[in-house]
Amino acid sequence: MKKSIMVDMDEVITEGGFLYLINEFEGTNYTTEDVNGYYMQDLVSDKDAFFKYFITKNQYDYGVLIPNVVEVLKVLKEYYDIYICSAYIIKDIPKKSGVLLLQKHNYLCEKLPFIPVDNFAFINNKSIINCNIKIDDKLENLENADIKILFTSYHNKDYDDEFLRSKGVIRANNWLDIKKFLLKGIENESSSSKK
Ligand SMILES: [Mg+2]
Repeated sequence: MKKSIMVDMDEVITEGGFLYLINEFEGTNYTTEDVNGYYMQDLVSDKDAFFKYFITKNQYDYGVLIPNVVEVLKVLKEYYDIYICSAYIIKDIPKKSGVLLLQKHNYLCEKLPFIPVDNFAFINNKSIINCNIKIDDKLENLENADIKILFTSYHNKDYDDEFLRSKGVIRANNWLDIKKFLLKGIENESSSSKK
């Protein structure tokens, strides 16, 4: 049986759309360097007005794919069951967050057509997801996995190796790191067994 991998979406598969909309709305040029902590919306002066604007837009129209994510997931799919698991509730507008479900679903269908839609899970509490391996940029979301991979992002850069080691977490700076780590030994094994 293949091992399972939970892959987060925002800041792991795609990035940039949320901050783009903040800059559009505010008339600013913020970068992720300006974000203090995890929540980008803390940059916004009037959150009510911003989120009224935000839900009329689709952040995924303005984001980019993280480099190499598509090709690496295609390869990993040969050896693992891949589940895309994404939170869709924005804490400032929990009851109006439903629109994000469709946006996320459509984005994943378009960009990762080789992942079955049955393998999408939209949920905030990822600790109830039972996968062997978890890849996420948020430390708390890695709970309950045998292999925990923290995907480097603007808000987690400062965690040092020792701290992560104490949590049983490995850092990956990019998708090529993940490919190397998760295919270590596997591709050689399968090519020699074909001989
Ligand atoms: Mg994320």
